[in-house]
Amino acid sequence: MTTIPTFEMNNGVTIPVIGLGVFQTPPAETVAAVEAALEIGYRMVDTAAAYGNEREVGAAIRNSGLPREEVFIETKVWVTDYGYDETLHAYDKATGKLGVDRLDLLILHQPDVGNFEKTIAAYKALEKLLSDNVVRAIGVSNFTPALLDRLLAEVEVIPAINQIELHPYFTQVASREADAAHGILTQCWSPIGGISSYRGTEQATSTFTNPTLVEIGERHGKSTAQVMLRWHIQEGRQVIPKSTRRERIAENFDVFDFELAPEEMAAIDGLDVGERGGPDPEQPQPGFHSFSIPEA
Ligand code: NDP
Repeated sequence: MTTIPTFEMNNGVTIPVIGLGVFQTPPAETVAAVEAALEIGYRMVDTAAAYGNEREVGAAIRNSGLPREEVFIETKVWVTDYGYDETLHAYDKATGKLGVDRLDLLILHQPDVGNFEKTIAAYKALEKLLSDNVVRAIGVSNFTPALLDRLLAEVEVIPAINQIELHPYFTQVASREADAAHGILTQCWSPIGGISSYRGTEQATSTFTNPTLVEIGERHGKSTAQVMLRWHIQEGRQVIPKSTRRERIAENFDVFDFELAPEEMAAIDGLDVGERGGPDPEQPQPGFHSFSIPEA
C-alpha cells in the first residue's frame, strides 16, 4: 500500500497530501465511499456540518477498524453556528455526530462578511478548542487575502490551512501568495474542477475534457483528474477530490508514480481563466443563513 506523503502545517501537525472530499455525497452513499477510500489507502477525509454526512463519515472510519489516530478528520463549522459560544457548541455537535473526542482539523466554512464580528468570535472559539487540545489544528475556508488580513488583525493563532476553490481554470495566484506569506497551507476545493461541470455547465467547459490536460495525461498514461491532482501536489497544495465511485476514488489516489515536467506545470498554470465557479467570498450570501445545523 502507498505510504501517503504529508504536508507539515505551521503548528507542526502533518496532513496527508490527499484526502477524500464528501460535499454532495448523499448520507446513504457516504459510508461506502469513505470505506472504499480507506481500503484504497486514503487516510484523510474532509467533511462539514453543512454536508449532513458527518455521522456517516464517523461510522465508516469506525467500520474500517483503523486506529483513530491513523485517520485525519477535517470538518467545518457552518455560518449559522458562528459566535463564540455557538461555535464551541458546534464542536460538540460535530464530534457527537462523528463519534470522536478530538478533531484533527476544524475550520470556519465561510467568512460571513455580513457579520464579520461573529466570524471573528467563531475563530476565537476555535483558538479555545485548540488550547484545550480537543482539535489538533484550526483554519478557515474561502478567505481572500483581504479577509485574511481582517481576521489576522484580531486573532492570535494563524490558521493552519485555508481551503479555497482552486483548479486549473481558477488558480488563485493572489490567494496562494497570501497564504504562503502567512505560513498557511493552501487546501484546494474542487481540485479537479468538479465545479466546472457539476453545476450543469456545458461539457465543453469541463476540466476533465480539456485538451491540454488530455494531452499531458496521454504522455504519462494518466487521466486528466490524475494530472490535475499531481499538479497541485507538486506545487505544495493539499487536495480533497470527491467521488462516490470506487474506481474514481482509486484513480484519484493513484498519483504518486509519475512527475510532471516544469513545462507541463506551466501549461496547466496557463489554463486559468480567472473566474470562480463558487460564490464570491467578499459578497454577503443570504442563502448561507437559509438552513441551520441539527444537534448531534
Ligand atoms: P471535485 O473537483 O472533487 O470534483 C468532484 C466531481 O468530479 C464529482 O462530480 C465527481 O463525480 C467527479 N469526479 C471525481 N473523480 C473523477 C474522475 N477521476 N474522473 C471524472 N470525474 C470525477 O469537486 P468538489 O467540489 O466536490 O470538491 C472536492 C471537495 O472539496 C468537496 O467534496 C468538499 O469536501 C470540498 N469543498 C469545499 C467547499 C468549501 O466551500 N469549503 C466547496 C466545495 C467543495 P462522482 O462522485 O460521480 O465520481
